[in-house]
Amino acid sequence: MPNRNYGLKKKILLIGTGGTIASAVTEDGLTPELTTEQLLTHIPAIFDHCQADCLQLLNLDSTNITPLHWLRMAQCIQTHYNDYDGFVLTHGTDTMAYTAAALSYLIQGSPKPIVFTGAQKPIGFDSTDSKTNLMDAFRCASEDMPGVSIVFNSKVIPGTRAKKTRSKSFQAFSSINYPYLGIFRDGVLLRYIRQECGEAPVFYETLNTKVALLKLVPGMGREAADYLLERNDALIIESFGVGGLPESSGFYHCVDEAMKAGKTVVLTTQVENEGSDVGVYHVGHALKNQLGVLEAYDMTTEAVVAKLMWILGQTKERKEVERLFYTPVAKDILWPIAASEIPLHSAAAPRQHPFRSISSAANQEGTAVPP
Ligand code: ASP
Repeated sequence: MPNRNYGLKKKILLIGTGGTIASAVTEDGLTPELTTEQLLTHIPAIFDHCQADCLQLLNLDSTNITPLHWLRMAQCIQTHYNDYDGFVLTHGTDTMAYTAAALSYLIQGSPKPIVFTGAQKPIGFDSTDSKTNLMDAFRCASEDMPGVSIVFNSKVIPGTRAKKTRSKSFQAFSSINYPYLGIFRDGVLLRYIRQECGEAPVFYETLNTKVALLKLVPGMGREAADYLLERNDALIIESFGVGGLPESSGFYHCVDEAMKAGKTVVLTTQVENEGSDVGVYHVGHALKNQLGVLEAYDMTTEAVVAKLMWILGQTKERKEVERLFYTPVAKDILWPIAASEIPLHSAAAPRQHPFRSISSAANQEGTAVPP
C-alpha cells in the first residue's frame, strides 16, 4: 500500500474472504478473484477517513464457506486484535448472516467494531452497491460501534439478527425482530444503539458442527428427523407458525427418543418475523411442557445454528446447554427471564412473553428503540 501520513486516523484491517463484491466475470460465471488491495483502489476516498491495511484470508463464494472458515476468521481477528481499532470483513452475501452470527459467538463483548459487508453486484460493475457498502463499512469500523455487525445498503444490523431476505436487489438484508443499530445518511452514521461490550473480547476456538436443520413440509413423516438425529448432536426443526409438530407422524416419539439419547432439539418457525411460542397450541404444548424441547423464540435460524455449534463445542450437559441457549449473547434473544432462573422444563416457569422487553415498534425495521 502507498505510504500516507495518517495522523490520528483510525487503523482498520480489511480482511477479504471473497463474495460478489470481489468477483470478476469469467466463462464459468462470477468468481471471487479480486484482492483486498484491488477492492480499495475503487474507494480511494477511504484514506481520507482512516488508515486501512489489507489481509487476504480467503477468496471464496460464500456458498463454499464452512464453520472451519468461521474459526479462521475469528482467529485472524484475535491475532491482529491489539493492532487495529476496527475490522472490516468482505464476504459473500449468501451465507454472510451465518458467518456474522458465528463470529458474534466466537468473539463476545468486543469493544472494537467487527463489520461484515459485501455486495449484490461486483465492485467493477458500472452499477454496483459495492463501493457504498465498503465505504460505509469502513466508516462504521472507525466509529464507537462495538461488536459484530453487518453494514449493507446504508443499514447497520447486529450480527445475530441479520437475514438475507432479497436475492437480487441492493436491500439484501433485514434485521429480524430487532431494530437497526444505525443507518447511514449521506455517508454519516446515525447511531441508534450501541452494543454492550467488555473491556476486552472473549474469544472461543471450538465449534461442534454436528447441528442439522430440518424444514417441515405438510405431511412429512419422522424419517428425515430420525436420519438427521442419528448423525448429529442437535436438530433444529423449522416448524409452522408459532411452532408445533404434526401429531400423527410419530414426531413426538422421535423427539422423545432423541432427547433421552442426549440430543438437543430446538423448535423454530418458518415465519420470518415475530418468532416462536411453542406452548400455545396443542401441537406444541406437550413438546414444550413435557419433553422440554428448546425453542428459538425471537432468534433467527442462522443465529440458532451458530449458537448451538458454539454451545455444543463447550458442553453437552443438558441443563448447561439450556442455560447457555437462553442466555442472550449480542442481542440474539430477548427472552426476559434471567438465564439462571429458567427451570429445565419451562412448564414450571411463569408464562411471560418473549418480546415484552422491546416495544412493538421495534418489529418495524429501522425503528430506533433502545433495547
Ligand atoms: N454467491 C455470492 C456469495 O455469497 C453472492 C454474493 O456475494 O452476493 O459469495
